[in-house]
Amino acid sequence: ITWDTSVVYNQLENDFHILVIMYDISDIINVKQMQIDFLRNASHELKTPVTAISGFAKTLLDGAMDDQKTLVEFLKIIDEQSDQLTSLINDVLTISHIQNGTNYDYQSMNLHDFVNSELAPYQSVAKVHQISINNQVGSGVEVNTDASMLTRILRNLVSNAIKYNIPNGQIDITYTVNDSYWQLHVSDTGIGIAQKDISRLFERFYRADDSRTKQKVSGTGLGLAIVKELVDSIGGTIHVKSQRGVGSTFTIEFPIVTENDGKAASDN
Ligand code: ADP
Repeated sequence: ITWDTSVVYNQLENDFHILVIMYDISDIINVKQMQIDFLRNASHELKTPVTAISGFAKTLLDGAMDDQKTLVEFLKIIDEQSDQLTSLINDVLTISHIQNGTNYDYQSMNLHDFVNSELAPYQSVAKVHQISINNQVGSGVEVNTDASMLTRILRNLVSNAIKYNIPNGQIDITYTVNDSYWQLHVSDTGIGIAQKDISRLFERFYRADDSRTKQKVSGTGLGLAIVKELVDSIGGTIHVKSQRGVGSTFTIEFPIVTENDGKAASDN
């Protein structure tokens, strides 16, 4: 525990009083440390694509572009690294946006139709990899939620379910409900997640060894951190069940918000 103290002196006639007030400021110190770590990690991650872009561009200008094959190869790398940079900047901006506090606009919506429209842009990418995405949410399911928050969550989970899947794989989106929460489950038949990685998945910039060392799958390591921050900000929870070589299921519990609750805001 880290303490801060303030001392108040008070002299009443002949008596002299000293009041010592002690505050526990561990939380403030921890938040500050997290912000410092985030900036340090973000700068480090941003440097990687910038270094690659400038290195390959300089090499081309120094003469490598005379060779047509090298030119195309290096331009492809520059293009990929620019995309990585854009994703990183967008994700970092999203995190700082969430941390500044987000106002949610809760509206009643048909979840089946909403999931269908969100999945549409992913269907063609999935098809290229022979992956099928199935919306298993019943056609009559209505929920009261903030559309842009749900979009962010769903897009991150579905794009991961595609990225970390295998050819001929499957992705299912299902809905369940109990007294206080409704749940959205995104299941995939992909590579799965090792037990040692599960507890760290929601850390900012964390990528399991498979995706980082093999450099096969692009990513920022911020997607699940964003999902977790959004889920926390609405008082929900997120759980993962996974088995290597079998697949993963991400479950999000959303508190049931009635129409009368009106607008809800995060207290971040
Ligand atoms: P990334 O940009 O790396 O995808 P995320 O924060 O979205 O970052 O995910 C963190 C890590 O969790 C990923 O790098 C990957 O190792 C693992 N992961 C996430 N979703 C899945 C999934 N559906 N199947 C297997 N591994 C996953």
